[in-house]
Amino acid sequence: MSGRDETLADLAAHGRFLATLDSVGVPWPSPGAEAESARRAATPRPEDPAAALAALREEMGDCQRCRLASGRRTIVFGQGNPRAELMFIGEAPGAEEDQQGLAFVGRAGQLLTDIIEKGLRMRRADVWIGNILKCRPPQNRNPEPDEVLACQPFLEAQIRAIRPRVLVGLGKFGAQWLLKTAEPISRLRGRVGEYEGIPVMPTYHPAYLLRNPAGKKDVWEDMKAVLRLLGRPVPGD
Ligand code: URA
Repeated sequence: MSGRDETLADLAAHGRFLATLDSVGVPWPSPGAEAESARRAATPRPEDPAAALAALREEMGDCQRCRLASGRRTIVFGQGNPRAELMFIGEAPGAEEDQQGLAFVGRAGQLLTDIIEKGLRMRRADVWIGNILKCRPPQNRNPEPDEVLACQPFLEAQIRAIRPRVLVGLGKFGAQWLLKTAEPISRLRGRVGEYEGIPVMPTYHPAYLLRNPAGKKDVWEDMKAVLRLLGRPVPGD
């Protein structure tokens, strides 16, 4: 596909996404969304985030809420510290993640580990890593709107359980979902937004960085901003 065709396909996908939300009765953002978001922002993290997450995983069960159930091997719930200060949100599991039942364990995941451990100087086990979709889409295609709608209550509840100090949206899907926007990632990245009172840093997806290593420089700038938001030392400051 040429770059132009890809852009057109992308625009069409966004149009379908927004249209579907309206047609299923979810205007985006919905009326009252701001008040609801403010209410949630004021809700404290549960006493026991690990228990809240375990209950959520139980509620998910052998999820059959969307068509991805038929092609998946495992549900990839996400993993890390239930009291993480920092939470990374990607798109959906790939083949390796589907095999292992863990988020970001393939090649892109190794790069994410480097970003966390070499860049942020944090331990991977101390952050939370998850996705919008918990099941692998066939051939790693983009998430469809009905799949996002079926799965998003779980991500919303995970964020409410963990209530990190900072959220990082990885790539177009992670960033757009958190910020409730259809703006392209090239415009979003590097600009801090907000999700229910939590600062959001949109940045490039590690899979994109594998194809476009020149983008790593921008991601490093974004990660330095994340360190500042967390009140941690920034190398070179
Ligand atoms: N890409 C994602 O968005 N998530 C994963 O878990 C792996 C690759």
